[in-house]
Amino acid sequence: MFPGSFDPITKGHESIILRALPLFDKIIIAIGINEQKKHFFPLSERKKWISKVFEDYPQIEVITYEGLTVDVCKKMNAGFILRGLRTSADFEFERSIGQVNKKMLPGVETVFLLTTPEYTALNSNIVRDIVRHGGDATPFIPEGLDISPYLLD
Ligand code: ADP
Repeated sequence: MFPGSFDPITKGHESIILRALPLFDKIIIAIGINEQKKHFFPLSERKKWISKVFEDYPQIEVITYEGLTVDVCKKMNAGFILRGLRTSADFEFERSIGQVNKKMLPGVETVFLLTTPEYTALNSNIVRDIVRHGGDATPFIPEGLDISPYLLD
């Protein structure tokens, strides 16, 4: 299971997912609904965009969830939590989540993939800033996605 906010999905997320394909027989991309974290793009759009990016991959499923990641892993019978590591700050953040998740659900391992250098600086927040200020976010989001009409709302 690959949990995240995906607000919106970026080329960084896409790269991690594509690189993880040979490692797992199925990947569940799980969009977490976190009431404390204000999202920018509506959940339905985020889900639609991810489904479109991976429409040719029957082994990839997209779900949304509320609550604890470990509870969803249990429900979905996922054996691994996949996360991407960009920087040492990511590592510190992920270490505590990973260790707590392991304590709560010992049967599930968190697996980290290092970001490829070209995506290390990329995060959804940067994409949101570009969109918010009317810039072109195309180079940072998966090909074929057009999130600009969203600006007209
Ligand atoms: P969260 O809100 O849980 O941080 P995100 O949607 O920001 O969720 O990210 C989900 C996962 O994708 C995290 O493991 C994060 O480290 C990873 N990720 C985000 N951006 C990139 C990137 N540019 N390269 C690789 N991994 C990334």
